This record gives sequence, C-alpha cells and structure tokens, in this order.
Amino acid sequence: MIDTSHATVAPRPVGVNPWVPSTVRIQAIRPEITDVATYDLEFVDDEKGARFRFLPGQFNMLYLPGVGEVAISISGDPAQHGTLAHTIRKAGNVTAALAKLPVGATLGLRGPYGTSWPIETARGNDVILVAGGIGLAPLRPVVCDIVTNRSSYGRVSILHGARNPEGLLFPSEYEHWRANGIDFQTTVDRAADGWTGSVGVVTLLLDRLPLPNPAETVLFACGPEVMMHYTTKTAMGRNVDPGHIWLSTERNMACAIGLCGHCQFGPVFVCKEGPVFNYERIAPYLTIEGL
Ligand SMILES: Cc1cc2nc3c(=O)[nH]c(=O)nc-3n(C[C@H](O)[C@H](O)[C@H](O)COP(=O)(O)OP(=O)(O)OC[C@H]3O[C@@H](n4cnc5c(N)ncnc54)[C@H](O)[C@@H]3O)c2cc1C
Repeated sequence: MIDTSHATVAPRPVGVNPWVPSTVRIQAIRPEITDVATYDLEFVDDEKGARFRFLPGQFNMLYLPGVGEVAISISGDPAQHGTLAHTIRKAGNVTAALAKLPVGATLGLRGPYGTSWPIETARGNDVILVAGGIGLAPLRPVVCDIVTNRSSYGRVSILHGARNPEGLLFPSEYEHWRANGIDFQTTVDRAADGWTGSVGVVTLLLDRLPLPNPAETVLFACGPEVMMHYTTKTAMGRNVDPGHIWLSTERNMACAIGLCGHCQFGPVFVCKEGPVFNYERIAPYLTIEGL
C-alpha cells in the first residue's frame, strides 16, 4: 500500500515580498534542441543564492524588464545550490527576448512557486516517469534525486517521447541515467534516417512496460495534456491506482501566488494548487476542452 499522505507542498519563500524579483545573472547557456536552451542562473546577491531552495517540479517567474514575465520550471538538481537551471523553449515575446540574451546578462526571478512531485511517496516504490518533449525538463530534478538516492527507489522507468529524434531532450545524460539502473526508453512520432528506435506515441512504451507491482507503482507525467490523458488511461488499464498518478499542468500565469486568476483550471489555480496535481484532483477537468 502506497502512502500518499505526503501531499505535494508549496513552500512560500519566508519573509520575501512575492512581488519583488531578485536579480539573477546568466552564468551559462547550453543549447539543447531546436529553440530550446538550458540557462544556468546565479543570484547577484550571493546570500540569496545560498538561501534559495526548491522542490522538484516547482517553477520560477522569470522577468525581463520592459518585456514581461514567464513561468519556467526549475530543471536542475535540487541538491545542488548556487546555480538554478531552467530549460526554456522559445515560444513568444518573453522567451524570444530571453533567447537573445548573452551569458552575463541579468534578469529578474521570483520564486520558487507551486507544488512539487511527491518524491517521498515515490521512494520505496516502483516509479514510472512519462515525459513528452520539453516535459522532461520539470521531471529532471526527480531524475537527479533518483540517481543520487538510487537505492531508495524500486524499479525506475523513464518513457520519453518526442516528435522526432532531434526533439529528444538531454540526450547526453541518457547513458548516465541507464548506468544508474534506470530503464530509460525513447520513442518518436516520426523517424529520421538512421533512427533504429521505437516509433509511435509514448503510451505504446507504457503498454509494453513490465509492471510486476502495479499496486506499488507511482507514475509522474508531464507533457501535452492529450498525452497525459492517454498516459493515465493506459496506466489505469495496467492496474496502476489513479491515486498514485501525478501530472504537471500548464496554464497562462501572471501573479503566480493565487491572486489574479489567470491560471484558473476549473476550481483550482494552477500556480498555487499545482502545477503538480494528483490525477484524482483534476480528472474531472482534464477532458473539458478549452478549460
Ligand atoms: C508552471 C509552468 C511551468 C512552465 N515551465 C516551462 C519550462 O520549463 N520551459 C518552457 O519553455 N516553458 C515553460 N512553461 C511555459 C511558458 O511559461 C510559456 O510558454 C510562456 O507563455 C512563454 O511566454 P512568451 O511570452 O515567450 O510566449 P507567449 O507570448 O505567452 O506565447 C506566444 C505563443 O506561443 C504559444 N504558446 C505559449 N506557451 C506555449 C506552450 N507551452 N506550448 C505551445 N505553445 C505555447 C501561445 O499560444 C502563443 O500563441 C511553463 C508554464 C507554466 C505555467
């Protein structure tokens, strides 16, 4: 029986005015896939940097003066302090402006916000992470925790799907993850020359995955909502308990502290009660188009 009493928590930075961003500097930029790069950010104020902690799955608001603010998940290792990795896709105004910034440039950061993946619940159980495209970024902190504390987890599988082989995120890390006892599998919607791997949607990998202990299996998924919908359906069809499934959702966000209502999803605010939700909490709203 899995103990799900470890609710995902949303610690609010103590004694910090949530409206005031801190200044961070771009320490490094790592191009990942087309239009996606990982930015290592360091606080200009060393003391703030030393104090900053986050939980896997939480996000920051990144602010470019004169342009705007965007919610971006933290994609780095929660156990490493000093720099904060954010893996960002160029989507519109703010992220396009961000993509033009060089190493050394500064921007504003508020956070961390939102709920986290319940890793305390996952420990001691079998774990499946399902990631569609850039959805692997918010799950990467969980992978870091699994690699560091491998013996605390049972069987671990990561199922990562992308449109094409060039869309698979963090390819340089797969070998390291596999060497740490993680069953890491990929699939693509469209193959390219030389691709010998799986072709098809990520749920096909989940269909074929050996699940010796479905009652003691925890599943975290992040990606397009349609992918998460079919992932949960497939997992439940394989006898994974719906209460053991967590999903990370995205909605347009403005305040990030549960006041403005921009990110309302049915009766919940994604910024405060999410972005990581237990499936049972949001199941009724997932199938309502345009919600
Ligand atoms: C909790 C949370 C965590 C997030 N984490 C990340 C992250 O780690 N990395 C990341 O790159 N993004 C992440 N996002 C998404 C990011 O906040 C949005 O893409 C944001 O709107 C980009 O702002 P912009 O001004 O560049 O584009 P906008 O001007 O807001 O959007 C420009 C155009 O792109 C479209 N668009 C916006 N977002 C998306 C999207 N996600 N997918 C497809 N089309 C989109 C819009 O419909 C619009 O047409 C996250 C969002 C949330 C709520």
